[in-house]
Amino acid sequence: VSGSSDVLIVGAGVIGCMVALEAVNRGLTVTVIEKDAPGRGATWASAGMISPFGGHQRSPTLTALANASIDLWPEHARRLETQTEIDVQYRTDGAVHIALDASAAALLADLAGQGVAQLLTPAEARALEPAINTEVRAGAFVARDHRVNTRRLGMALWSACVAAGVTIQLGEQPAQLVQKRGRFHAVRLSSGGEIAAGSLVIAAGAWSAAIPGLPRMIPVRPVRGQMFSVDAGSPLIHHNVLGAGIYLVPRERAHILVGATVENVGFAPGPTAAGIAELAAAARKVVPRVADLPIIETWAGYRPGTPDDLPILGGDPDVEGVFYATGHYRNGILLAPITAQVIVELLSGGRPAVAIDSFSIERFASHEQSAAT
Ligand SMILES: Cc1cc2nc3c(=O)[nH]c(=O)nc-3n(C[C@H](O)[C@H](O)[C@H](O)COP(=O)(O)OP(=O)(O)OC[C@H]3O[C@@H](n4cnc5c(N)ncnc54)[C@H](O)[C@@H]3O)c2cc1C
Repeated sequence: VSGSSDVLIVGAGVIGCMVALEAVNRGLTVTVIEKDAPGRGATWASAGMISPFGGHQRSPTLTALANASIDLWPEHARRLETQTEIDVQYRTDGAVHIALDASAAALLADLAGQGVAQLLTPAEARALEPAINTEVRAGAFVARDHRVNTRRLGMALWSACVAAGVTIQLGEQPAQLVQKRGRFHAVRLSSGGEIAAGSLVIAAGAWSAAIPGLPRMIPVRPVRGQMFSVDAGSPLIHHNVLGAGIYLVPRERAHILVGATVENVGFAPGPTAAGIAELAAAARKVVPRVADLPIIETWAGYRPGTPDDLPILGGDPDVEGVFYATGHYRNGILLAPITAQVIVELLSGGRPAVAIDSFSIERFASHEQSAAT
């Protein structure tokens, strides 16, 4: 395999594929290399919530990025459906958060105080979601909490990439990066070929740190997440429902996804009996009937985690032409559209419309130093 393009992207998950499509839209030629199967990494495992507090954390810079991305989602979903005729099941019904104890209720009041959620009495929460636990202490409704079916999304993105003329190298991975005069020049593939490109985008999810020859250490590590799905027979919940440290996401045909564990176990294979048992116990507290429903599937995936739970976006400070679009942790589906926009703006030599300084890989320089001393 040999060739050349304006942009070479490593990884065909939601991030790599969205960057590829956005780049093609801007008139760039794109090659994507994928070691495995497109859309089968974290993207496939994901619950697909597009939520303003994705990852349940409170970083103002992340909230700004998330909000910009939520605004871009409807257009992305529409365009993908028109281009591929795959319905990605983008839904905007919102989320119902429930609190089963006083400290959880205080957190919901806090969310409402920030203006992102509307507090609900237990009766109001049960009016929206009749199947929730009768002992609910308080609830909150978040209208700007959306969702997408990420397995369909992965397929749709891939098929849109193919249709848009993206050059695709499946079963390939970088063996070496070739620089010329401090600038990225090409990638040598493990199969022996070489692909020259103007720019390189690292979008390899939880595996990003393992790419050989990168200009610096990327502090991305896998964070395993387990999930299971049940068949409710007829629709049981109508929104994303969050509580007791877990979430339930409604899917077509009355299926419900339950997730997710957050485990620092490297790439240890899953799911495990303990992980699924933990989720099932929590799900029973939120929507008791879930415990009696037949399980359809259990699975696990690896989120690309970073030391501060924030993504890594932007160019390498030392080697021109190397860009990072990784470390999206619990928010990769949420953040994919804005990531694609930001990265392609940088690839085109422009300035992103949203501030990305706090997501620069340079923020980890002091970590590396302290680790070395
Ligand atoms: C259980 C679970 C639930 C989640 N729920 C949500 C949610 O509700 N909302 C949300 O926003 N996010 C959620 N996430 C997080 C989200 O799934 C990820 O942040 C997102 O999918 C990351 O996308 P990605 O494209 O970077 O990685 P991936 O989808 O993992 O794709 C990376 C791709 O790169 C390829 N690759 C890796 N290394 C190489 C290499 N050397 N050469 C070639 N190819 C390579 C891989 O094979 C893979 O296909 C969840 C994650 C999990 C595990």
